[in-house]
Amino acid sequence: MIQLYVPLNFLGTLYREIKQSMADLSRMFALMDKEREVADPPGAQPLQLQGQPTVRFENVQFAYDPERPILQGVSFEIPAGKTVAVVGASGAGKSTLARLLYRFYDVQSGQIAIAGQDIRTVTQASVRKAIGIVPQDTVLFNDTVAYNIAYGRPGATQAQIEAVARAARIHGFIAATPQGYATKVGERGLKLSGGEKQRVAIARTLLKDPPVLIFDEATSALDSQTERAIQHELASAAQGKTTLVIAHRLSTVVDAHEILVMEAGRIIERGTHADLLAQGGRYAQMWALQQSADVVE
Ligand code: ATP
Repeated sequence: MIQLYVPLNFLGTLYREIKQSMADLSRMFALMDKEREVADPPGAQPLQLQGQPTVRFENVQFAYDPERPILQGVSFEIPAGKTVAVVGASGAGKSTLARLLYRFYDVQSGQIAIAGQDIRTVTQASVRKAIGIVPQDTVLFNDTVAYNIAYGRPGATQAQIEAVARAARIHGFIAATPQGYATKVGERGLKLSGGEKQRVAIARTLLKDPPVLIFDEATSALDSQTERAIQHELASAAQGKTTLVIAHRLSTVVDAHEILVMEAGRIIERGTHADLLAQGGRYAQMWALQQSADVVE
């Protein structure tokens, strides 16, 4: 029996390794496909930035599939160093705004400008360098925690990595693992919860220290303590940066410079939290609903 066990065990390991490599490859191809959606125009120059930029969406129209328009004339501005939050039902097109700003896709009409420059006319690499994204579902590399954080700034020192991990409140967790920052994470290593992965993404973004931030808040239910901690970390990371927040919980947006309420690819209401409550429309309704849900909790 033991003679069979060893080779079978080996085959099992080999099978898992191959399956994992295939998963890594398919993820890589999915990303490459996205890359192929946009191309730099000949002679494109890098984005020119001096201090905090403004971000402007001007009458943006976009569809993933020509038959089905998603964004239908979206215009707004995030003034330099301010935060604009987007709320609305699932499928309204909120995350699409983030994907377009990061230039995973090009707009079909209208334009997106950073510091007055249409992002289609400058190099894609320079746009991505200027933006830090904390996505809904952070994909971690099958590598060490240190590598995953330092990915935001190759060549970062251990001290810099630890400093941002502390700021993102993930240091204690990492330090408590037997191998600390050398612990492997991802599918082949330590599994992190949604909240922990998001903190790694926040740490990575803090290290990158870009002038523009995009936070796509996790839809997955985090326990309320983790949620509050993450909101706090996001708010401090956003201080003084030009920030777009895609919010699924209204508590995140109360202090935003402007809140956009989206429905079926259009902005149906906009203003500060107080303005929108006073309007007594969709946002006020969502707020009342969320408050009563919180009371029940
Ligand atoms: P949620 O709150 O659930 O994250 P959302 O408001 O962020 O939703 P988006 O992710 O922007 O919504 O999606 C808007 C619409 O575009 C949805 O109907 C979605 O099905 C569609 N969509 C999103 N990504 C793609 C894609 N890659 N290809 C085709 N359709 C897509």
